[in-house]
Amino acid sequence: MAILERNTRNIDNRYWNPGAEYFPVKNRYTAGVAGQRFFEELKEKGKIFGTKCETCNKTYIPARLYCERCFARLEDKDWVDVGTEGTLFSFTVVHETKSGEKKEKPSIIAAINISGSLLIHRLGECSEEDLQIGSRVKAKFKPQAKRKGEIEDILFFKPL
Ligand SMILES: [Zn+2]
Repeated sequence: MAILERNTRNIDNRYWNPGAEYFPVKNRYTAGVAGQRFFEELKEKGKIFGTKCETCNKTYIPARLYCERCFARLEDKDWVDVGTEGTLFSFTVVHETKSGEKKEKPSIIAAINISGSLLIHRLGECSEEDLQIGSRVKAKFKPQAKRKGEIEDILFFKPL
């Protein structure tokens, strides 16, 4: 989905066909100022950026404009390249599709700790048996020409 598609029929947002792979949202969407920059950095540079509140020593990923703890505005100087690696905080193995059918190959969804912030994403090039909480994982990006400025520009994280 392009970021700025417009919905021409409001009724399309009021129901979801459970057999459909995606929710049919076609409305104008913006990720906000911080979200837009976060996704542009993913797309253009293949980098994950957060914003860090120096007062609270807290890094937000994806980047945010305000600290949730002290409400300080986070400025350009607060943007930090957090690298493309993190620590496996938690994971779950998904055996069924959204409509309840058995998947050909289970997928693994993980919470990845990057600089103290949790990012939810897929794990790849591994099986459940390879995983250990606390182990290091690294983002694998799509080739730059195929990135769209969305979280799916990261194909998955894989164990190091
Ligand atoms: Zn703060």
